[in-house]
Amino acid sequence: MRLVASLLLLVAMLAGQGAAAQDAARLDLGASALTAEGRDRGRPRPMELVLTLDQPVPYRVFLLDGPPRLVVDLKGLDFGTAQPAQLFGAGLVPAIRWGRFQRGWSRIVAELPGPYAITQSSLSTRAMQPRLTIALKPVPPEDFRPRASAAAALRNLPDPAKLGVGAADAAKPDGLVADRLLVALDPGHGGIDPGALADGESEAKIVLSFALAARDALERAGIGVVLTRADDRFLGLEARMTAAREAGADLFISLHADALPAGEAAGATIYLWDPAANDAATRILAERHDRDDLLAGLDLTGTDDGLAGVLMDMVRTETQPRSVNFAKFLASRMALSGIDMHRRPVQGARFSVLKSPDIPSVLLELGFLTDPTDRSHLTDPAWQSQMVGALVAAISGWARDEGARAALLRQ
Ligand SMILES: [Zn+2]
Repeated sequence: MRLVASLLLLVAMLAGQGAAAQDAARLDLGASALTAEGRDRGRPRPMELVLTLDQPVPYRVFLLDGPPRLVVDLKGLDFGTAQPAQLFGAGLVPAIRWGRFQRGWSRIVAELPGPYAITQSSLSTRAMQPRLTIALKPVPPEDFRPRASAAAALRNLPDPAKLGVGAADAAKPDGLVADRLLVALDPGHGGIDPGALADGESEAKIVLSFALAARDALERAGIGVVLTRADDRFLGLEARMTAAREAGADLFISLHADALPAGEAAGATIYLWDPAANDAATRILAERHDRDDLLAGLDLTGTDDGLAGVLMDMVRTETQPRSVNFAKFLASRMALSGIDMHRRPVQGARFSVLKSPDIPSVLLELGFLTDPTDRSHLTDPAWQSQMVGALVAAISGWARDEGARAALLRQ
């Protein structure tokens, strides 16, 4: 019997789950493993992923393409402090990630060394601990059966646009003066995607803590703020832009603290959308951000082709100078505040998250986690408040300048 398993949706509804189901399930990392058959390291081998849990949970298993990936979604599973790198056999696949995904679901994504088929996917509850076994075998490319598109993988999950954090709703309460400036702060990464990691610090956590501090300071200065995420959760690049647009943001600032090979980058850097950018370092960053999005099961394929692309470019010709203007304000305010900046503080990059044609957008690398000096700054509350101060001053200055320009244009 041939087992075609491009999608297996199995719900373990056990009698008497009741109150126990309220507690998050845990992964028993020591009793979980990824193993491969045979010793031929040169080519893809059959593999088996065994996940041992402390209670049964609903789950689903499927494959995605570009690159080939195995996705395992588990409802109500809390990974706690367990790191994918600690999973026995993690090195058998090019990359493995896990973390919170959406609405109580957690996700494991394992990049596969080639096209595979799922030959088994079952949750055994006979042993002391429930055990999820997923068996995979390499197949020729023509037999690879990924889900039709990454977007389809989300069909049964809530609309990404609605994932914006509660702050989005609170940002424009009734009666608020319509012309109050609203800034979308977008802490990069989160949940399944921790971003850069160094010295026990994760980019996702650092930029979230910075965003929360910046939100408080901006609100004290009378500037409205919408956060694309306010906790440690995954959000696709498109959902980030959608959250900003739905809130009616006047400015979009994506916050990062990435990793680059030693010596490639140090100091705060401001990036603007530039489809022609081809600098090696920014290419690494752009590829990584898009790849993180892909790895988590989302992609931007087809979002700006043909006519849509032309229309977006037309709108962008109006917003791009405003993005550039903001970048200048930010660079000068950071310089005035004594913030260490990259030798080229404003650069162009193909960062998909900056693609919004109608909202001035910048991506701010607060620093690089790979640089020891940057790293010590990023985790220093004094540096953080200095940087927050520069950001608030830049936004206020830019808004006044834009307001003055708009008034001039109206004459
Ligand atoms: Zn990043």
